[in-house]
Amino acid sequence: MSTHVEQREFQAEARQLLDLMIHSIYSNKDTFLRELVSNASDALDKLRLEAFQDKDLQVDTSDLHIDLEVDKDKRTLTVRDNGIGMSRHEVIDLIGTLAKSGTGELRRKLKEAKDAAASEELIGQFGIGFYSAFMVADNVTLVTRRAGEETGTRWESGGESTYTIAAVEDVPQGTAVTLHLKPEDADDHLFDYTSAHKLREIVKKYSDFIAWPIRMEIERTKTTPGADGGEPVVETVVETETLNSGKALWARSRDEVSEDEYNEFYKHVSHAWDEPLEIIPMKAEGTFEYQALLFIPSQAPFDLFMRERKSGVQLYVKRVFIMDDCEELMPEYLRFVKGVVDAQDLSLNVSREILQQDRQIRAIRRRLTKKVLSTLKELLTNDRDKYRTFWAEFGRVVKEGLISDADNRDTLLALSSFDSTADEDTQTTLAEYVERMKDGQEDIFYLTGESRQQLENSPHMEAFRAKGIEVLLLTDPVDEMWASSVPEFDGKALRSIAKGEVDLDSEDEKKAAETAREEKEKDFAGLLDWLKDALDEHIKEVRLSSRLTTSPACIVGDTFSMSPALERMYRASGQALPPMKRILELNPDHPLVTGLRTAHAQRSDDPALAETAELLYGTAVLAEGGELDDPARFARLLADKLARSL
Ligand code: ADP
Ligand code: MG
Repeated sequence: MSTHVEQREFQAEARQLLDLMIHSIYSNKDTFLRELVSNASDALDKLRLEAFQDKDLQVDTSDLHIDLEVDKDKRTLTVRDNGIGMSRHEVIDLIGTLAKSGTGELRRKLKEAKDAAASEELIGQFGIGFYSAFMVADNVTLVTRRAGEETGTRWESGGESTYTIAAVEDVPQGTAVTLHLKPEDADDHLFDYTSAHKLREIVKKYSDFIAWPIRMEIERTKTTPGADGGEPVVETVVETETLNSGKALWARSRDEVSEDEYNEFYKHVSHAWDEPLEIIPMKAEGTFEYQALLFIPSQAPFDLFMRERKSGVQLYVKRVFIMDDCEELMPEYLRFVKGVVDAQDLSLNVSREILQQDRQIRAIRRRLTKKVLSTLKELLTNDRDKYRTFWAEFGRVVKEGLISDADNRDTLLALSSFDSTADEDTQTTLAEYVERMKDGQEDIFYLTGESRQQLENSPHMEAFRAKGIEVLLLTDPVDEMWASSVPEFDGKALRSIAKGEVDLDSEDEKKAAETAREEKEKDFAGLLDWLKDALDEHIKEVRLSSRLTTSPACIVGDTFSMSPALERMYRASGQALPPMKRILELNPDHPLVTGLRTAHAQRSDDPALAETAELLYGTAVLAEGGELDDPARFARLLADKLARSL
């Protein structure tokens, strides 16, 4: 019996999403049932676990199941489970708001999604669970009672801006979601979700592997021959039919399971709507016995880089669900991997604390990691297109492993690919880079920064371009972190071209260059000393450069110093760092530099010269994509100079 009915507003994003659902012409409306069944199945898993862990919880777990109930006259379909249920608070939190992380991203995309195709893609990408009911229903009622609570909750919405919520008594434990099917689908047998035939087909297709029985009452006409040759007796009997086979896919061998079955299972465990890029079944016998079924998604989720995002591997013990996002089973940098691990020898009582210490779990994690990496390696060698899709979606995450997983570093380096000056469109692996190295080239050169364009135009690149030496262009924030801590690949040192001295000449060239440079250094000694004083605040040394061909100057770090971008990242994360001074390198052939030398020789105390020095330094900072300490002052000095030059 309803007591007080309260009307509430959907949170703005939830409303937008509902709107999208209601007006969607999503081509695959049948998937709403997969989502509701998936939720029901989760709820049953949770109940079994909670009943096991909390002996005080008085619940009957002997007959856990999902029922589909149809009322043809009222045109309703109900999906009912006797699982964990929800409290009133949970209903408001879980159903009334879009608590998922990545909501900001979704909001932005919703605004952009102008046409049906775009919103269809969005539905697919975001993986919209419960709300998908509104693809087929114009009204949805959810009645639920949480295990261990007395009072139930009734939630109802027509999918507009509001929903109602009320306390109800005498509700069975668990959740029943009743869809009032849209009238416009009434005459289309393709969308007849009151037909047993249709429901059987959808369950078979999308939810066959669900471990709990999905049942439906079927009316059958039964004909028995009449007694003594009389009229046959025709009667209608109601039978309960179980629609799914319930076989755990991970316990079956790969050739017994179809691609479609794997794909649907992936959607269930990952709560995603994309197709898996790679399916990895595993089985280990011996000391630590387990079965695993892992998936590499084809699309990165919105929350891949968000703090609250979850890892994607579920832990089962002997077919019993134990926990979602079991972080202990997969390293952080493989957090996009989804799936199930079913361990045979763990206690059903394991807690997260125990898992962290468990030798068996650690062994499994090592094996899973190796297997995922070897699968990726195979992609790289055998299916470049797939590998590229993978790397474009997840490369940034995988590279975190170069810092955190020293054991697998070599494999990870071999797996990584990067932009490079060798090819504008396709990325290169380090092995491919090494193959292209010039005679006498000993190092692998790279430059880090924010964009390909910025790096290509950087003054640091000039000598390398002139000599035709390939440089890797590293533009992900994580590149700053690992590149300075990974010393080598395949015996070749990894070297930033923005640090240290560059030396690209052959032995003969070197000698000639050495002599020329000594000469020049004598010529420029006065200027270099003076500039070091004048720019003392910003730099620690001024020297002549062998890396510049067209720019007048550039700024370089010591071989082991932090790059400015890394410094910015540290500061942005709130770490206090001492100010870092770098080195100013001058191009002795540039007219600005030679002109400055002449001017300095003639009138060393002209204040205009100090301004030119500042501008020279400022342009070097800007050219490498850096930020000026005082951009207003730089602009003023430049404007004054320009005015005088007219
Ligand atoms: P997801 O399943 O990806 O979390 P959904 O939109 O499908 O997203 O469901 C939102 C949440 O609502 C679920 O995480 C769950 O906590 C709750 N929920 C949905 N259906 C049920 C159900 N039948 N029983 C208990 N809780 C449910
Ligand atoms: Mg769901």
